[in-house]
Amino acid sequence: MGKITGFMEIERLEEGYEPVSARVKNYKEFVIGLSADQAKLQSARCMDCGTPFCNSGCPVNNIIPDFNDLVYQGDWANAITVLHSTNNFPEFTGRICPAPCEAACTLNVNDDAVGIKSIEHAIIDRAWSEGWVKPVLPKVKTGKTVAIVGSGPAGMAAAQQLARAGHSVTLFEKNDRVGGLLRYGIPDFKMEKSHIDRRVAQMEAEGVVFRTGVLVGTLPADSKVTNWAKESISPDELKAQFDAVLLTGGAENSRDLPMPGRELSGIHFAMEFLPQQNKVNAGDKLKGQLRADGKHVVVIGGGDTGSDCVGTSNRHGAKSVTQFEVMPQPPAEEDRSMTWPYWPLKLRTSSSHEEGCEREFAISTKEFLGEKGKLTGVKTVRVEWQGGKMVEVAGSEQVIKADLVFLAMGFVSPVATVLDAFGVNKDARGNAKATTDFTGGYKTNVDKVFAAGDMRRGQSLVVWAIREGRQAARAVDEFLMGGSDLPR
Ligand SMILES: Cc1cc2nc3c(=O)[nH]c(=O)nc-3n(C[C@H](O)[C@H](O)[C@H](O)COP(=O)(O)OP(=O)(O)OC[C@H]3O[C@@H](n4cnc5c(N)ncnc54)[C@H](O)[C@@H]3O)c2cc1C
Ligand code: SF4
Repeated sequence: MGKITGFMEIERLEEGYEPVSARVKNYKEFVIGLSADQAKLQSARCMDCGTPFCNSGCPVNNIIPDFNDLVYQGDWANAITVLHSTNNFPEFTGRICPAPCEAACTLNVNDDAVGIKSIEHAIIDRAWSEGWVKPVLPKVKTGKTVAIVGSGPAGMAAAQQLARAGHSVTLFEKNDRVGGLLRYGIPDFKMEKSHIDRRVAQMEAEGVVFRTGVLVGTLPADSKVTNWAKESISPDELKAQFDAVLLTGGAENSRDLPMPGRELSGIHFAMEFLPQQNKVNAGDKLKGQLRADGKHVVVIGGGDTGSDCVGTSNRHGAKSVTQFEVMPQPPAEEDRSMTWPYWPLKLRTSSSHEEGCEREFAISTKEFLGEKGKLTGVKTVRVEWQGGKMVEVAGSEQVIKADLVFLAMGFVSPVATVLDAFGVNKDARGNAKATTDFTGGYKTNVDKVFAAGDMRRGQSLVVWAIREGRQAARAVDEFLMGGSDLPR
């Protein structure tokens, strides 16, 4: 603990943002990270409270009090060693993690939590700029081969861990670039893609082979998931060629809204819209990009994906942006005595909301309206929740003008054809069925086939994907070698 009285003397400092007027003109990151002096002061707020709830609130169990102390002492090189010991990619989480660790911080009981995420961000950015992030080569090669299907954060974390354990790892990805939803989904203004490219270069130096544009198995003919594959490989070929296979294909099937008028043009899944902008930002030329310029946009779904549609629509120059959430507006502040150290339900206003958006709560869509096959509006109704059931408020119907609707109501499941082709059993929600048990976890019913990340747990967070990738890597290593030194 750097400064015993730090938490009483120093106030929490948030990271800065570029002004809205400047940042909506481009797709660049706009968060201004803490300076070294600011990070030192912020880390001094950590009480080293003895039972670090933050450490269990963080899905990768970052050793937060230790890196706080090291930053306070100015020992940044050891701070990144501690951070990397639990998290392969702190530059991803330091940017886009919702920071459940901070909800669990003991200071959060009756004060502002330590700014853990901003300190993590400062440590990893400093480590990259100092040249401290280098390939870590295995001391011995095992001669074992592993195929990983899907290059999101779960696949990337698993690949890095397994390569460092000495296995020959090949990562298959149907899209044309590595990164999963980090690459095609999450907007560049939240996380620029150079962060992924830098890790890919590190992992290539560590021996990971990336095979992009390769679809493992098949997709349904009417599938709307991103797919720029130029070739395919069958599950049987993969199982024959590799000693183990890890499935980290995400939960890509978006939830639909089968209402009257759904067939009108102008209604799209968020995941038809967001990846296109990622591609354009990467320098690709797209014919007929789906754009929101001058349009009245309605985003259905109040979560992260919806918020990303809001930010992207505003950058396009939409005439208006409205976001619907079917649940009632949560309180601005949680009752911490009831919620701490868990993730509280409270009103969260994202940077994209601040850039311009009408937010409507307790509203449900009844019908899409249109003329000559084209969307013109959305018929809505106010709803109340009574005994857990949604009830429409009589006489509250209204029509909201809309030229474009983005459906951002989450993801229902992984693509079934891929799991079926492997013969992998599914759970009740259609995810790959596998436990997270210490022994035998992440293993599916099919010999030598494992599953992790959103494909196993359902739609989740980047930090959970990294955790599952790391833990699955240990399970695969154990399976191949009869034991493992990889951390869990
Ligand atoms: C728009 C959006 C915004 C989000 N924002 C945040 C955020 O701010 N913070 C946060 O923590 N989380 C966020 N999330 C959630 C987060 O991105 C996911 O939970 C996380 O990426 C899941 O990681 P994963 O590795 O399991 O799968 P994914 O990232 O989905 O990667 C799976 C990869 O597998 C590939 N694949 C699938 N099937 C095959 C196949 N048969 N052959 C070859 N390749 C295949 C896919 O193309 C994809 O690249 C967001 C999600 C979305 C959609
Ligand atoms: S990864 Fe997320 S939960 Fe863990 S310390 Fe970083 S911000 Fe907190």
